[in-house]
Amino acid sequence: MLNDIRQARIDLAAALRWAARLGYQTGVCNHFSVLAPGRDDLFLVNPEGYFWREVRASDLILCDLDGKILEGSGTVEQTAFFLHAPIHRRVKAARAVLHTHMPNATALCSLKGQKLEPSEQTALSFHGRIGYDEDYRGLALSNEEGDRVARILEGHEAAFLRNHGPVVVGASIAEAFDRLYYLEEACRIQLLALSTGRPLQHVGEPIASRTAREWNALPEFCEKHLAAIKRVLDREEPDYSA
Ligand SMILES: [Zn+2]
Repeated sequence: MLNDIRQARIDLAAALRWAARLGYQTGVCNHFSVLAPGRDDLFLVNPEGYFWREVRASDLILCDLDGKILEGSGTVEQTAFFLHAPIHRRVKAARAVLHTHMPNATALCSLKGQKLEPSEQTALSFHGRIGYDEDYRGLALSNEEGDRVARILEGHEAAFLRNHGPVVVGASIAEAFDRLYYLEEACRIQLLALSTGRPLQHVGEPIASRTAREWNALPEFCEKHLAAIKRVLDREEPDYSA
């Protein structure tokens, strides 16, 4: 158990550091969280007021779903509880929950009625797997907002919150982070294609659904992605795992 939590801390710190390099953080906002190994009632989350680029494994806060801190000297910003805790509580598949305002996915969330279209291979990996929320309610300052987003995430691996940004979930940090990265890439390509003013070329059924299944039949790819990230961090900023 102790080693498992230590490994979860290292993986979560690595995901935060890499997301920072990719420009996914806005100021010191937003959270990555993961349920503690073997537990459904405790989760690790990044501390309030930190850049992701400075977070170390030992800085991550262990808390329960009601907001009580069990390990860590920092504080947790309130929207982490209002958004992440209800998702961890309600969505079985959401061991890891990542929320960013990363620019391309967030830009797509700000366009009227816009969805991730089945018009490019990376986007096809999300075909039928994104829930769309069209009902913006302001900042996530109550459990109601987390409950609402949790309902949108049921049966999906990501939610696009209109006028706000994306939430991505996964069975592990590796899986959720891999999805987050490819989601941002798919949104970037779609926005680039739309910027030409020409129509998107859709892939029809059943090829779109088959390609999504092919993508998602490669779960070990996520672990390799995170392992590569940690190799680079071990060389270039080894304090992440401290
Ligand atoms: Zn947000």
